[in-house]
Amino acid sequence: MTKTEPKALERFDLTIIGAGPVGMYAAYYAGFRRLKTKLIDSLNELGGQVVALYPEKSIHDVAGFPDIRGKDLVRMLERQMSQFHTTIALGERAQSLTRESDGTLNIETDKSCHRSKAVLIAGGLGLFTPRKFDNPAVDQWEWRGLTHGVTDLHDFDLKRVVVVGGGDSAVDWALHLHRNAAHVTLVHRTDRFRAHEDSVAKVFDAVDVKTFHTVVAVHGEHEIQEVEIQSTKTGERSTIHADRVVACLGFLSNPGPIANWGLALENDGIQVSIRMESSVPGVYAAGDMAQYAGKPKLISVGFGEAAVAVNNAAVYIDPTKRVFPGHSSNKPAEK
Ligand SMILES: Cc1cc2nc3c(=O)[nH]c(=O)nc-3n(C[C@H](O)[C@H](O)[C@H](O)COP(=O)(O)OP(=O)(O)OC[C@H]3O[C@@H](n4cnc5c(N)ncnc54)[C@H](O)[C@@H]3O)c2cc1C
Repeated sequence: MTKTEPKALERFDLTIIGAGPVGMYAAYYAGFRRLKTKLIDSLNELGGQVVALYPEKSIHDVAGFPDIRGKDLVRMLERQMSQFHTTIALGERAQSLTRESDGTLNIETDKSCHRSKAVLIAGGLGLFTPRKFDNPAVDQWEWRGLTHGVTDLHDFDLKRVVVVGGGDSAVDWALHLHRNAAHVTLVHRTDRFRAHEDSVAKVFDAVDVKTFHTVVAVHGEHEIQEVEIQSTKTGERSTIHADRVVACLGFLSNPGPIANWGLALENDGIQVSIRMESSVPGVYAAGDMAQYAGKPKLISVGFGEAAVAVNNAAVYIDPTKRVFPGHSSNKPAEK
């Protein structure tokens, strides 16, 4: 009787951890380099922070797109990526990274195991969660009218909205929602905003701004009806009639399991060389999770890093290849 060996797991050339904009662009680029590629993400959809946190916001600083909504940028990335075949594993969180004796890298997720010649980590902020009010009288309204971002603009049509915070997100959302909502109030605990000056000037003209106030309670039956605010100067309380609260209080993030993979870290990110290679040969990083002196965390920067990482990974995988792939304009797109 012949013993049936378990089928060896398929080995990929490049496995990308993180399907945010940078991981998606890296997947396109890996296809362009003819690498057999896999893309893994713990979320159930492509797009990373952009889709999870600000799909409806306009982005103005991606080359070639003077004004593009987050979800539209991700749609374009998906279209670009689909020129080549990428194996996609969504809803899987990468837990560990180990190396076999032949150099193959094993990525163990909470659901399965993936084998790869090289790995590109595009894990962004890692595991990120929105900062809460830390006040049960407010936080209990989560998903009953209280959200930490806007995923569907129409949910705010003709609604009375209270936006809370003083950063770019709060100011931009207040301006954005003002177009469709019945009324928008922006509540901020000081009069110092961490947002573009131009947007701050506009928001004072467009919406009702309550500086030096915090939200202390939310009232209603099944839906939000009133938001109670308190002056940080006098302690006086007042109420705002409202149907929705958008909390823009920032995010808490940590690299999650990736921090324990033995890679040299810096400021919660992965230290990389000019080839975007980590301290472990064959393991690259790009996007928000890659760290080097003078690094700005921007989508456009991450795209460049993805191209550098993939081109160098291509040579790591097959040393007969060259780092410079030639111009895409000289090659027809492949199906
Ligand atoms: C409100 C807001 C507005 C912004 N506006 C702009 C802007 O106008 N212009 C600009 O350039 N940038 C902007 N940014 C920043 C921009 O979104 C980030 O720089 C960009 O998303 C980084 O892309 P990324 O692919 O590196 O990471 P992310 O988009 O964070 O994607 C990383 C992905 O990795 C996954 N992941 C992490 N760890 C694991 C794991 N262990 N296993 C599996 N998957 C994992 C995550 O689930 C996530 O999907 C903004 C950010 C925010 C929050």
